[in-house]
Amino acid sequence: MNDDKTLRFYELFEKLASATQIVNQKPDIPLVESLLNEISAMLRLSKGVTRIYRNPAQEERDEGETMISYDTGIQGVPVHTVRFVTNLMSIATMTVYMSPDEPPLSETELSRVDLTMRTALTFISRNRLQVIAEELAFFDDMGYRNIRSFFNYITWNAQPGKLDGMVSLNYNLRHFSLVNEEIGHDLGDKVMRAHYEGVTQICGKRGIVSRLGGDSFVCFCEQRCLQELLEYLNESAVVYSEQGDSLTVSARAGVFVVPDGFEVHDINDIMGKIMQAYKIARGGEKGHIVYYDDELIADRERAKRIAQRFPDALKNGEFKVFYQPKVNTVTGEICGGEALSRWFRKGRIIPPSDFISVLEESSDICKLDFYVLETVCANIRKWLDEGRNVVRISVNLSRRHMLNDRLLERIIGIIEKYRVPHKYIEIELTETTTDVEFRDLQRVVCGLQAQNIYTSVDDFGMGYSSLNLIRVIPWNVLKVDRCFLPLDDEESTSVRSIMFRHVVAMTKEMGLECIVEGVETPAQLNVLKENSCEQAQGFLFDRPLPVEEFEKRLDMQRYPIDF
Ligand code: C2E
Ligand code: MG
Ligand code: MG
Repeated sequence: MNDDKTLRFYELFEKLASATQIVNQKPDIPLVESLLNEISAMLRLSKGVTRIYRNPAQEERDEGETMISYDTGIQGVPVHTVRFVTNLMSIATMTVYMSPDEPPLSETELSRVDLTMRTALTFISRNRLQVIAEELAFFDDMGYRNIRSFFNYITWNAQPGKLDGMVSLNYNLRHFSLVNEEIGHDLGDKVMRAHYEGVTQICGKRGIVSRLGGDSFVCFCEQRCLQELLEYLNESAVVYSEQGDSLTVSARAGVFVVPDGFEVHDINDIMGKIMQAYKIARGGEKGHIVYYDDELIADRERAKRIAQRFPDALKNGEFKVFYQPKVNTVTGEICGGEALSRWFRKGRIIPPSDFISVLEESSDICKLDFYVLETVCANIRKWLDEGRNVVRISVNLSRRHMLNDRLLERIIGIIEKYRVPHKYIEIELTETTTDVEFRDLQRVVCGLQAQNIYTSVDDFGMGYSSLNLIRVIPWNVLKVDRCFLPLDDEESTSVRSIMFRHVVAMTKEMGLECIVEGVETPAQLNVLKENSCEQAQGFLFDRPLPVEEFEKRLDMQRYPIDF
């Protein structure tokens, strides 16, 4: 090689060395590429191939990542390879090729090729490894963005106003273990992936979606896309195969709408809120989508206090059973009573609406219900012993009991303990939403029937009424909810009036007893009478009463019913 060429090589190599040695700045890749091209041409090479293997096993299987750093398109044979192990324990190799028509490399040329390759490979692997390291840091092993990338996003948007117009969510896919069971883990992964892609698309460029783990995700999206996102989360058909197989996926979510000018001091300013809201959404009492707000949190605090105080309150007799009479609309006689709980605390009465839903979040409600049943049985025993007029008393049982497969024994045990004839007890149960609950309900109702204990559907018409519920399960009584009861001046042609008439007629025709709840006015009572509905419960006659008051009603001849 002549001196000119030598000079030119060192000139280029010096530039290459300096361009590749900048550590803390963004490298000038096009410059490096053009220098490499020039040196390679000068050394008569036809192609340069770099491979990065993440571990020796990958190298053995030759599954590395390939990068072409120089290519003339001329067929060549390998003439030199360099290989080294990086400090991240991955392996980098570079092989250069030369056309067989070219004279072989001289010793000097080979040493220059080697020098250039080592310089280039160090540079390429360092840059590539940085990307790999970022991938490892910000994506989990299934390729989902991870929590660190979500935190990073928040940190980058911490200044006031940067998150204006955004909303953050924590959502969990529902029943995903069932999906895995149904179609297997591999397809389950595909469903989850496809769902994630769907959410990622809605969240768009300004947003982000990360997986916390399992089937739990967090995301940011623009407020204007929230509606679309919620619809997607609520229910979406997710296609998971090329043949178009799909599955319906739904999620529960906690939502935090970021107020304008919001400043993030701590990651928890966002994470804490969406996770708290999600926790409530998971319970289901407040719906599948729960928005974070301060009132919600105050509500939660209150619920926590109620749950904490409950065990002592029950032990200390703070719960009292009140009785609301049920009245025969033809004779005015008292024909039954419903037991309803009241919590006496520091001279105040806490109504069920404040504590039942909280107790239903755990099995505490079951303890209360058994306590009420026991009190009712003790009272009936006392009335029987006193020779009083005794009527059938209904007790509300939460759906929570359905999980208890010893429920029947427990109920019978309490009733028998007080030697109460079964005909005096009625169990009120509310409608169910799922098939599993439906089967449990059917089992319980049939079991009670076999013991001659009355059963009633409470609040019929509210929530998820299903005619199947009364077709399949052999109830004794149907309690029509007051939402079906026409208002005082309501036309008889209103939808409510029509439905009321038909529900009452259907109940009677099916041979069930029918009672209407929430009768407040004489006009409403007349509607019952006109429709031959023989039982009523409501403020028109009495509110739920303390036991001593109720005893007076038992002794009373009859309520006036001709208003
Ligand atoms: P429910 O079983 O449907 O009970 C009837 C509710 O309607 C009672 O409310 C009663 O006071 C109210 N009510 C009766 N007549 C009228 C009326 O004319 N107008 C109006 N506006 N309301 C009327 P309460 O006692 O507040 O109980 C609410 C719910 O709490 C009950 O609804 C029941 O689902 C639940 N609950 C009460 N005590 C217990 C209990 O010991 N265990 C369980 N599991 N649930 C209970
Ligand atoms: Mg009830
Ligand atoms: Mg009711």
